[in-house]
Amino acid sequence: MSKITAYRPVNLCIYCGAKEDLRDEHIVPYSLGGLSFLPAASCRECEAVTSAFEGRCASVNFGSFRIRENVQTRNPKKRPKNLSMISTEDDVATVHLVPKEGVIATMPLFRFRPPGYLLDPTHKEIGWTGATFEVKTDAPRQQKLWKNYKAPSFSVTQNFDPDSHARLLAKIAHALTVGHLGLNGFEAWLPPYILGNDQCLSYLVGGFDANEESLNVLHEIRYEVWPTKEKFIVLVKLRLFAQFGGPHAQIVVGTSTSEMLDRKLPFVIEANA
Ligand SMILES: [Zn+2]
Repeated sequence: MSKITAYRPVNLCIYCGAKEDLRDEHIVPYSLGGLSFLPAASCRECEAVTSAFEGRCASVNFGSFRIRENVQTRNPKKRPKNLSMISTEDDVATVHLVPKEGVIATMPLFRFRPPGYLLDPTHKEIGWTGATFEVKTDAPRQQKLWKNYKAPSFSVTQNFDPDSHARLLAKIAHALTVGHLGLNGFEAWLPPYILGNDQCLSYLVGGFDANEESLNVLHEIRYEVWPTKEKFIVLVKLRLFAQFGGPHAQIVVGTSTSEMLDRKLPFVIEANA
């Protein structure tokens, strides 16, 4: 059973600093299994921005995965019972709607290079040089359902929206750090990237190579701090869907001081979101 953590109310928008009309902000979106949240932490305008890219992550990137794996949804009645698979015969493609237990599951794997800031702090760029986007597939739970379709074989499609995925990673890392350090506890670098005002997402959001074995937690989250001359760089290491073998991301959150970090930062969270 997963645990709901309500952090201390922020009473300011964690993205733009607005003080009015504040809503609760989930750390990991509810649509991706997240339960923990920051009370009174996002204004209406910023909520519109974050829900737009979160929605693209939930539908474009993790849509069929969420349906096949029964990841929680706020609209269970609207959740489709079938997913599409494609068969091709004599160069003619046919789309079949197959009960979800009978589909090949797909999960997008976004494997990013380390954040540009860690490679060369003087260089920023738009786009995802050196990244690879792959699909992890899982056999259908009930392949016997295929007998109902006159097709020799099936294929499935998986779409990728890496910018929305990167903004999601940035949002999770930022919101989590606000939950632990408070808005005054660190110099936050991510809000312009989350809000779409800075497009060079690969500067602070990236990945790293490590073992992709499945874990027994849904998402894995850790902090790491890197000392520099005056301050400490705060990094969040995040494996979304670690339970299903998701790849490793690392996000540069900003800087903080040793007193703050020693006092407040839990280094390993490994929670179920
Ligand atoms: Zn705001």
